[in-house]
Amino acid sequence: NHVIKASNLVKVYPKGLRALDDISMAVYKKEVLVIMGPSGSGKSTLIRTFNGLEAFNSGKLEVVGIPLDSAYNERNVREIRKRVGMVFQQFNLFPHLSILENITLAPIQVQKCKRIEAEEDAIHLLEQMGIAQQAMKYPSQLSGGEQQRVAIARSLALKPDLLLFDEPTSALDPERVHEVLDVMRTLAGNGMTMVVVTHEISFAKEVADRVLFMDSGKVIETSTPDTFFSNA
Ligand code: ADP
Ligand code: ADP
Repeated sequence: NHVIKASNLVKVYPKGLRALDDISMAVYKKEVLVIMGPSGSGKSTLIRTFNGLEAFNSGKLEVVGIPLDSAYNERNVREIRKRVGMVFQQFNLFPHLSILENITLAPIQVQKCKRIEAEEDAIHLLEQMGIAQQAMKYPSQLSGGEQQRVAIARSLALKPDLLLFDEPTSALDPERVHEVLDVMRTLAGNGMTMVVVTHEISFAKEVADRVLFMDSGKVIETSTPDTFFSNA
C-alpha cells in the first residue's frame, strides 16, 4: 500500500556532507505527507531522490512500485517520471511556450496523446485552477501564483500517481500564497497522493495526514499534525 518506500538512504555530497543520513520512511496511497525542518536539513535532497533528480550513495528506494538503488538506473528513473509529477519553487515553465503548450507538451510527446484531446484536457485543468482565460498567454505575462498553478496543471496532465512539491509557495508574494495552497488543498481532498516540502504551518496543520520533521539529514519525528504541533 505504499507509494514510496525508502530504506536506509544515504546521500553524501562531494565535499563530504551527509545530506541524507540513513533515512527510512514511507508514503502511503492517498496520503499527504508534509516534510518540514530547518534550511539545509536535507528536505529538498530527499524529495528530489523520489523522482531520480538526485542519485544516492546507499540504501534502497521504491517509488510507485519501481525500484531505485545507488546504481542510478536511467530506465527506471524514466518510468518513475512518467508517473510522478513535481512542482518546484521556481515554477520551471518553458518561457517560449504558451500556457496551453506548456501543459500539452508532455502528453503529446511522452504519452502520444492526440493534440485535440491534450488541449481539451489542458483547458479543463486550467478551469479547475481558475486560470482558463490565460491559456494563450506566455509564462512571463502571468503572476507567480498563476504560473505555479500552471505548473501544477502541467504535472496533473500526465495523470500522475504521486505529486511532489518542493517549497511551492516560497517564491510567491505573500498575498498570492493562498491561490496555490487552495489548489493543493483541493487536490488533497480529491485523494491525490502528495509529498510537500513547505514552511506553511497552517497548510501542514489542516491538510497533512502526517508531518515528517528532518534535521541534519535525519528524520527526527514523524507524526500526525495534531501531535506534531502540540509538541511545538
Ligand atoms: P533543505 O532542502 O532542507 O534546505 P538541502 O537538501 O537543500 O536542504 O541541503 C542539504 C544539505 O546538502 C545542505 O547542507 C546543503 O548545503 C547541501 N547541499 C545541497 N545541494 C548540494 C550540492 N549540489 N552540492 C553540495 N552540497 C549540497
Ligand atoms: P554533483 O554535481 O553534486 O556531483 P551528481 O553528479 O551526484 O551531483 O548528480 C548530478 C545529477 O546527475 C543528479 O541530479 C542526477 O540526476 C544525475 N546523476 C547522478 N548520479 C548519476 C549517475 N550515476 N548516472 C547518471 N546520472 C546521475
